[in-house]
Amino acid sequence: MNLLFVASECAPFIKTGGLADVIGAVPKALNTLGVSVKVLIPSYASLDNNLRSSAHPAMHFDDLFGGPARLLSVQADGIDLLLLEAPHLFDRPGNPYVDATQTDWPDNHLRFAALSWVGAHLGLKGIDSWHPDVIHAHDWQAGLVPAYLKQTSPYAPPVVMTIHNIAFQGLFPKSALAQTGISEELFTPDGVEYYDQLGYLKGGIKLADYVTTVSPTYSRELLTEQFGMGLEGLLRSRESEFRGIINGIDPTIWNPATDPHIEHHYDADNIDNKFLNHAAVRKRFGLSPSAHGPLYCVVSRLTHQKGLDLLIDCLPTLVESGGQLALLGTGEPELERAFEAAAQQYRGSIGVIIGYDEPLSHLMQAGSDVILIPSRFEPCGLTQLYGLRYGTLPIVARTGGLADTVIDANDAALQRACATGFQFAPVTADALKQTISRVAQVFSDETIWRSIMQHAMQQDVGWEQSAKTYLGLYQSLTKQ
Ligand code: ADP
Repeated sequence: MNLLFVASECAPFIKTGGLADVIGAVPKALNTLGVSVKVLIPSYASLDNNLRSSAHPAMHFDDLFGGPARLLSVQADGIDLLLLEAPHLFDRPGNPYVDATQTDWPDNHLRFAALSWVGAHLGLKGIDSWHPDVIHAHDWQAGLVPAYLKQTSPYAPPVVMTIHNIAFQGLFPKSALAQTGISEELFTPDGVEYYDQLGYLKGGIKLADYVTTVSPTYSRELLTEQFGMGLEGLLRSRESEFRGIINGIDPTIWNPATDPHIEHHYDADNIDNKFLNHAAVRKRFGLSPSAHGPLYCVVSRLTHQKGLDLLIDCLPTLVESGGQLALLGTGEPELERAFEAAAQQYRGSIGVIIGYDEPLSHLMQAGSDVILIPSRFEPCGLTQLYGLRYGTLPIVARTGGLADTVIDANDAALQRACATGFQFAPVTADALKQTISRVAQVFSDETIWRSIMQHAMQQDVGWEQSAKTYLGLYQSLTKQ
């Protein structure tokens, strides 16, 4: 089975969030099941120069939406990459989606139409005598793949479209249609039109052979008005070809026994070493060297989705119960300012670093007791999975993949010794406050806390099961 992934990010090469981790991990898990996976991503200026210079040209386009382009092929970190080199579209500083002022690049519709077009082209023509049996398109940036295929050939390979976050839909004015080369006939509610706009994710969901999202609970939530963000009706109409498959983590990158970003390695049978990492976290965040409550951490985009405004209201409770907080994140300026103000107010108890720092995120998972994820919605969430693996117990809102992956330490779960963290609902500051108080109480019983940690660390959070599920899906679409 040959499989082409089309995506806008892939860790460790380019990452702004969980999508990258998934795209970097699934191919390796599928490789072990005998699937040959190639991953198509744009060749951004921020990619490592060595990566780009060690890649070899495998295809050339004289004019890809306004300029020449090449496909470069390279094997790196166990992944078969195809880099779409199109300097007029991708060779610019900063983030894949926004410029230095956090404004969307004005030609995003063209940039990701080009990515989708090349994905479709590879689906039809293959590359170096390799032909994909299935194309797996991820998020709106790859949403036009099935549209390009449909308008070009009746013999195209099947497309699986995965929704990693329905909040990002790739909606553009109708006037963009002509530039994308998508035919007028597809600009209908049965194609890429979304209420007189051009909808990349909408078109992907409508025209793909199968649609998935990243957890079973989120797949059910997406069928509702509360979570579907306008696409719930369309998803309901595709319910028989739509399911949630839970994300996993790359256990070679997220492993407290070998993690190069931490000094003191540990595993479920040797938890003591974990606590030696706390000092490094406290030092980095300017926290007092000790506290009698838990050391909480947050590693997150600071956005409304992530519910961290609720945490602001809970900070007095967290500090008064003896806790400390280390927060690493970047996002909405008001939230950044609010956390920085809290760090001033609670010096030694709250430490805040505004920024994006991959190595520090590993250290925090290793050297904290609790990771806070109070999201209003969460398709899957990865930081709670890293928390489980590192024995850093997650406090999660009961939504999406958070609900599917963390077992609340309620009395029944504690008695059966199956708890792995803490859930709260509804997603309000009051409920979170109560949970923080509950956590402080459980934390004060070291035996119970350690047994939850150990159980959390023993959870299977890898890709093995979900990779098999994906393979079964690909096989059912190709009858292989
Ligand atoms: P989302 O994709 O919605 O942002 P996920 O939980 O699925 O949320 O994935 C977030 C990923 O990004 C995780 O790997 C997390 O460790 C990482 N991350 C988020 N913010 C930061 C940050 N400020 N510094 C380093 N890593 C971060």
